[in-house]
Amino acid sequence: MWALVYSPRFQDHDPGENHPEAPWRAEAVVRFLTEGPLASEMTLVAPSLAPFAWLKAVHEEGYLMAFEEACLRLKSHFHGDDNGICFDTFEVARLAAGAVIRAVDLVENEGYSVVFCPVRPPGHHAGPARAQGFCFLNNVAIGVRYWQENYSLKRILILDWDAHHGNGLQEVFYREKEVFYISFHEDPRLSFPGTGFAEERGAGAGRGYTLNLPLKMGTGDREYLKLLREVIFPQVAAFSPQGIIIAAGFDAHRDDDFSFLNLTSQGFKALAAEVRAWSEKFSAPVISVLEGGYEPGALLASAEAHLCGLLGH
Ligand SMILES: [Zn+2]
Repeated sequence: MWALVYSPRFQDHDPGENHPEAPWRAEAVVRFLTEGPLASEMTLVAPSLAPFAWLKAVHEEGYLMAFEEACLRLKSHFHGDDNGICFDTFEVARLAAGAVIRAVDLVENEGYSVVFCPVRPPGHHAGPARAQGFCFLNNVAIGVRYWQENYSLKRILILDWDAHHGNGLQEVFYREKEVFYISFHEDPRLSFPGTGFAEERGAGAGRGYTLNLPLKMGTGDREYLKLLREVIFPQVAAFSPQGIIIAAGFDAHRDDDFSFLNLTSQGFKALAAEVRAWSEKFSAPVISVLEGGYEPGALLASAEAHLCGLLGH
């Protein structure tokens, strides 16, 4: 059994006409999954709004107030032209963060070992006081804080395979040894947001608990899998996570124009199958949270393949 945490309200964040992070994304993923072969084992769960206390565990209060006010005043953008907003954006973003909180409750209280949150807006670029790259609230970071503080989890692994570096996630956890942030992404010299060099390894007590794997253009399934097995796995084993969160972007797919990376949906399945093996080895449940992925066919096929991998199909 696995759970999917979703609200039709995710469609109500409208970043503007022709914006790639379009309202159809999460809804299409959910429809595809509920009409597909994995639906028979799936429980559909509705999220609640993330309480302010948990938003403030990651974001500065002044930032949250400015973001809410920009939406209520019907501004068209917040912190730059990429980040289109509408009246509903603040509430929908709270619901997206609330979905990850709900996922944590599902793994802790109801015995799920795999929960998928196809949310929008995405979150991994959002910093404590910064909206960026279509992200406003850092859904994964908020979920990590909730998992740590509400359930006393000591070691949480974040695996981010969105094509872009999750600079917001790195920023939040850079000085902490309880959260190991690992990111695959396109070479930051060529790709947004321009961070995530291999030398960025964490600071202070967190030194060694950030791992960046910048990838050259054209990197595909075989190289990803080799890095996951040979470079990442030994470090994950030494860390021995109690919980795993995947920042699951699918824009590294070869058909997605947002990167020059060449993963296929079978590649996403193979990566997820490795994570399933880690989850069993360390008795660590897996929560997967949608980030990027903008090409409809690639997004739907990859999301389904991803879950097939996580569920051992
Ligand atoms: Zn991305």
